[in-house]
Amino acid sequence: MPSGGVQRVLGVGGGAAGCETLMSVLTQLRKQRPDIDWQGHLLTAANALLPEAGRLPRWLTRRALSQAGITIHVEQRGEALVEGGVTTQDGTRIEADIVLWATGAIGHSWLASTELPLDKHHFIQVENTLEVTGQPTIFAAGDCAALTPALPNAGVYAVRMGPHLADNLRRACHGEPLLPWQPPERVLALIGTGDGRAIASRGGFGVSGRWVWQWKKRIDARFIARFNPPFEG
Ligand SMILES: Cc1cc2nc3c(=O)[nH]c(=O)nc-3n(C[C@H](O)[C@H](O)[C@H](O)COP(=O)(O)OP(=O)(O)OC[C@H]3O[C@@H](n4cnc5c(N)ncnc54)[C@H](O)[C@@H]3O)c2cc1C
Repeated sequence: MPSGGVQRVLGVGGGAAGCETLMSVLTQLRKQRPDIDWQGHLLTAANALLPEAGRLPRWLTRRALSQAGITIHVEQRGEALVEGGVTTQDGTRIEADIVLWATGAIGHSWLASTELPLDKHHFIQVENTLEVTGQPTIFAAGDCAALTPALPNAGVYAVRMGPHLADNLRRACHGEPLLPWQPPERVLALIGTGDGRAIASRGGFGVSGRWVWQWKKRIDARFIARFNPPFEG
């Protein structure tokens, strides 16, 4: 890529993954190629960022995006990836050299060819016991499971479903009654802003800083370490 040019990076999706990914990618690109003018744009179908978060975390995220020089386009639904950019639902064409598409998870397409009951996002409908609705002895957990009321797709829910799933599988094998899973009322989200800081969001509470990024790294490292066998040198 020749020096001195302009490159437009467009993120589609104003949820936590879309905001975090765009800020992190822009930081890295600017660090690696400071001779290029990297411009950031974020497109979101909703009228606000992080629609499921409280006002303070939403404001902190908007501030972090603006500090990263990212222009936010609200109420613009990305429709298709086309040569040189993205078209929106109203037919507008937004130019981009790099596109990051993060508009929320959907279920795997093969699920549609099964008898499993699916919700509108193609996730498997389950009871609060994690047993598939109308299909006793089949269970689903994590992002692929759709509970009523619906929960956001987040690892914090997925990991908490795991032990409960194991317990109910054991109960099903022994013919014992299944236990309902109770999701936590509020969960903590830690969103990296690419500049060595992160935003913590829990319900209406929000805070940002370098210590939040260090906290996020510690939590993630501790979680991953549980699955790594000890090193035998
Ligand atoms: C950029 C980004 C940032 C995120 N940050 C956070 C965060 O900070 N906190 C948080 O709580 N959540 C976060 N999430 C959401 C979180 O990653 C998911 O909710 C979580 O990973 C769901 O876990 P899961 O086990 O259900 O599915 P996954 O983690 O998607 O795991 C599914 C696994 O199944 C494998 N697989 C798929 N099909 C098959 C097949 N047919 N056969 C065998 N294997 C198969 C896949 O390869 C994958 O390894 C983030 C998501 C994104 C995209």
